[in-house]
Amino acid sequence: MIDDRFSEDDFETSFNIDELEMAFEPDADLSAEDYDNHQERSLRPDCEAFFAPGGPLKAAAAEGGRPYEFRPQQIQMSGAIADALAQGQNLCIEAPTGVGKSFAYLIPLIFRAKIASRPAIVSTETINLQEQLIHKDIPLLKKITGIDFKAALAKGRRNYLCRRRYSLLSADQKDALLPSPEMALEVQRLSVWIDKTDDGNRDSLEFRVDPATWDLVACEAHNCMGPKCPFYRNCFYYKARQEWETADIVVANHALFFTDLAMRCCNENAGALLPNYGAVLIDEAHTLENNAAEYLGLHLSRAGIVGTLNRLFNPENARGLLMRQGEASMELRAMVADTRGEAYGFFANYEEYINRREETAVIIREPQNFPDNLSRKLQQLYFELSKYADDIEEAGLKTEFEAQLSNCMEYVSGIDQFTNQTIPDAVYYAESERGGVRLHASPLNVAEILSEVLFNQDFPVILCSATLTVSNRFDYFCGRTGFCNGSTLLLDSPFRKEQAKLLIPRIMPDPSMAEEYQTAVNREIPRFLRMTDGKAFVLFTSYKMLRGAALALRTPCMLNNWQMLIQGETLTRSMMLKEFVNDPNSILLGTDSFWTGVDVPGEALSNVIITKLPFASPGHPLIAAREERIRNRGGSPFFEYDLPEAVLKFRQGVGRLIRSRTDSGIIVLLDRRVITKRYGKMFLDSIPYQFELI
Ligand code: SF4
Repeated sequence: MIDDRFSEDDFETSFNIDELEMAFEPDADLSAEDYDNHQERSLRPDCEAFFAPGGPLKAAAAEGGRPYEFRPQQIQMSGAIADALAQGQNLCIEAPTGVGKSFAYLIPLIFRAKIASRPAIVSTETINLQEQLIHKDIPLLKKITGIDFKAALAKGRRNYLCRRRYSLLSADQKDALLPSPEMALEVQRLSVWIDKTDDGNRDSLEFRVDPATWDLVACEAHNCMGPKCPFYRNCFYYKARQEWETADIVVANHALFFTDLAMRCCNENAGALLPNYGAVLIDEAHTLENNAAEYLGLHLSRAGIVGTLNRLFNPENARGLLMRQGEASMELRAMVADTRGEAYGFFANYEEYINRREETAVIIREPQNFPDNLSRKLQQLYFELSKYADDIEEAGLKTEFEAQLSNCMEYVSGIDQFTNQTIPDAVYYAESERGGVRLHASPLNVAEILSEVLFNQDFPVILCSATLTVSNRFDYFCGRTGFCNGSTLLLDSPFRKEQAKLLIPRIMPDPSMAEEYQTAVNREIPRFLRMTDGKAFVLFTSYKMLRGAALALRTPCMLNNWQMLIQGETLTRSMMLKEFVNDPNSILLGTDSFWTGVDVPGEALSNVIITKLPFASPGHPLIAAREERIRNRGGSPFFEYDLPEAVLKFRQGVGRLIRSRTDSGIIVLLDRRVITKRYGKMFLDSIPYQFELI
């Protein structure tokens, strides 16, 4: 809850930027090292003053930002972060939409930049938020505060083009090296881009490049010659890393942050990817458990292994690094082709197993039932290729070979870990993916791992998100993520409860009666769409139900002139959103990815229809394994995992509707279990709106 000592009148309006600047001069007795050792010096007064009426934030509108709004929750959040940074304590904050959380955390980090020796990392889940921070919020706050600090955007290595690898493809050998002739045209287009781009970053490409082509020119750890590379001085990746090393605030995404963290876990000396940081702020922290499970786990795919082998030699089109003359390369080509066949065979066993079970993903409990002849072949290939690579004189080509050799050995080790299930306390499963199969080993003890490698370090970790609590408590989130050594802060919503109402139909069958339920959903959706004349998100928990409703909605949409945008059809997610905003009477039918991270303020979105309470599919191996772990220690998987997860997801879906103080609308829930089941109250209590049976 917010601290009630804040009110607008409590703040003097005579705030002066010079005073602010003076206030941020480091204490004469306080060195940067002292600061990093968490002395008492708090930036709280400075942060509070910044957001106070008459404070510097008032200048935001004149600098192209939004007009000033007094937001007590924002002041409280900023002050709490300032304290946590100064004391080296961890902090977990639930900051509802409208609090202005990005400014609330950036300001203490900016003020900290003046006195800290190590940079702060800000990690976000989505690219949208990263872009907003780096291109809008940070430049604006730099102008307003007048503080001279440096911020940099960090992306994963593979986002940068490697000039050396590219040069191999644009040189004489390109026809042999390119796995397919169609790629030549794309490589040609890249040559124009390389002359223009400042950062060599994939996101700045103005045309689409096939992922397989990008794979050939992407910067890769194994494939990098570092300072020995002839392109080192102009290397896009090293230029970017230099920016990160000298920045005060580094904006990264969760994928990069956790990949870096995983490397730090394996190697204590590794300042692996990111610079040696002194504070971490994780925004969109509701995905923390899943991110950690993904990036601290193991993944092997047929596409990955075959891709590596194709780079060496692709028997389908006789291309690859081994397309050199000579007997040795002929023998090696035969070996690669043989290993490639073995890779298909290895994954085919898992594919067959998945298909037999009529699932998309299955737990692998008896790995001995899946023979592995691939590791041996990869090892043999490694030894033969090593000898061959030793004789290569051209440094660039040698590096390229050595990179594939390292890949082969990593696959051998990964296959060993998977088939012998050597990672403790993990779930091993196989999953179908487009064009193949992927094997995963995901840790189930994320809380134990994070409490040690993240929350028990010499830097404070601040977590924030709009949805972390269940029944206004952080217990569930902290239990799942291992959050410790700090405090929690739950902020009030700055919006009024009256801005929205929850409507629940009186007559609906139980969702367990699948056919009757689908019929009722199809019948009810148009009734509620008429209340707002479209302008609605209809959120589903399965594609099957979405497709059934889309079919039934065709006629009502035609009669009422509502454009229906259906996820999974022709438009991408961002194109659907653009179209939805542009067409005032459209309706959008979406599944998982529309429940969260979508921001449509204003009248365009006046109605959010939730078709079913979002309990996760129990069939997914990771979820099944988490449930089993709870069951094994005598707990209740439903109450300890499924229910709180569903409540959090429900809150995210509901949260799509009210995005500003002037928004209003209805939320419709076509699932009466919130009324008929005892646990239903948890859902109703988790949102601020009144409900009405209709
Ligand atoms: S230094 Fe590494 S990433 Fe950069 S161009 Fe050379 S090989 Fe590529």
